Amino acid sequence: MYPEDDYIQLSSLQHYLFCPRQCGLIHVAGLWEENRLTARGRVLHERVDSGEEETRGEAHVVRSLNVYSSIYGLSGRADVVEFRDERGVVTPYPVEYKSGKPKRDICDAVQLCAQALCLEEMLGVSVPDASLYYGKTRHRLKVDLTEELRRSTVSAIEAVHEMVKKRIVPEARYGKKCGSCSLYDSCMPKLGAKKMSQYVRGLFEPNEATS
Ligand code: SF4
Repeated sequence: MYPEDDYIQLSSLQHYLFCPRQCGLIHVAGLWEENRLTARGRVLHERVDSGEEETRGEAHVVRSLNVYSSIYGLSGRADVVEFRDERGVVTPYPVEYKSGKPKRDICDAVQLCAQALCLEEMLGVSVPDASLYYGKTRHRLKVDLTEELRRSTVSAIEAVHEMVKKRIVPEARYGKKCGSCSLYDSCMPKLGAKKMSQYVRGLFEPNEATS
């Protein structure tokens, strides 16, 4: 069980899986910068985050639901949770909204699975599946919350807790993903660790032109 002060944000898992350094810069160093992609995601979430509830057929739909887990030390918001009533048994069905299109990696599925872990603990029920909605392709992708996905999710949770507890900001590793990273300018991924330490030292050395 984690004390509330040590909870990490659900979004940190996705940041970690996208790039551990990005996760460290945001959740350890406290940096955040918006770019074209994050702005598009924010606009989509503002539309979803209306806090409305409605009943659709056999499902009661709740938007922007706060979720948490003391077992995994997590908290955040689920975009949409459909509480589906099947013959008197109510099962929560999370739906996470993404502005882009389906990705090859498991970032989005891990974030969704973490929401399910929270709902299972909060409500004492099992959540076998869930969906991702992609704004670019305008479709829902069903995600089975398999044991393998749950193991990957718990590993990511443990890795982020470790990073936050030890205040680690990993070194940059320049790659294709850097092109879509909102923290590119702060990260300076092409500098590398050695050049970075020279650059930081240079900031504190007297400037010959002014001395
Ligand atoms: S610029 Fe690249 S290395 Fe730096 S945080 Fe972003 S994705 Fe990671």
